[in-house]
Amino acid sequence: MANTDGLVINGVNIVRTYKVDNFEVHALRGVNFIVYPGEFVGLIGRSGSGKTTLLNIIGGLDRPTSGDVFVYDNNIGQFSDRKLTEFRRERIGFIFQSFALLPTMSAFENVELPMRMVGKGRRERQQRVMECLELVGLSKWAKHRPQEMSGGQQQRIAIARALVNSPGLILADEPTGELDTTTAHTIFGLFQTIAKQERVSIVMTSHDPAAEAYVTFTYRMADGQITNERGLNA
Ligand code: ADP
Ligand code: MG
Repeated sequence: MANTDGLVINGVNIVRTYKVDNFEVHALRGVNFIVYPGEFVGLIGRSGSGKTTLLNIIGGLDRPTSGDVFVYDNNIGQFSDRKLTEFRRERIGFIFQSFALLPTMSAFENVELPMRMVGKGRRERQQRVMECLELVGLSKWAKHRPQEMSGGQQQRIAIARALVNSPGLILADEPTGELDTTTAHTIFGLFQTIAKQERVSIVMTSHDPAAEAYVTFTYRMADGQITNERGLNA
């Protein structure tokens, strides 16, 4: 077996079976999934292929039925729920299709929230939040609320929020699912830039094959399995 030291993610034979009444839904049927530092990985497949299930397991939001997930060499399956929550909060940034911004807070306050949750001081928060807003091109919008912004701008705020604690890993689930094609391409391009500049690994799910033009590595999924791998280190 290849040396796996220094991998951001090493998922080994991940199986996830949901029990619904008397049925079993085989959402993941033995997936092997590796992410190197600084990679922008696309997890591409149709609706129902298992992308969200895999992303949630990698991010410790769900646990596999069997198999192991190592994130920065930690076997996260062995973490208690409490340890897992702490680990997620400090080391992983999450981005969702629906943006998930808090409507009563300004853009600044939304981005600041993860720093408050880990107890960062005011001065550090001020500087890092503005740096992240700058990075997504929205520093002028710091005082605005989400509803005053377009969908693309809201998603960029969510990207700044995911970056603010400088995680090594960002997980984005269908981040362009609610955006028009042009805006979607802008967001894919922004992820590409961020992966390079911030030296963060990004795993993004999408049902849009156009995303493959932006990523450094593609895993194609169908029916709970990886059907194709393609990229710079394939
Ligand atoms: P994708 O994100 O690619 O659309 P999902 O990971 O959401 O796919 O779903 C994969 C399969 O698992 C689908 O057949 C879906 O219906 C099923 N599934 C997902 N979540 C659940 C759940 N909580 N309970 C039962 N079945 C589920
Ligand atoms: Mg999904």
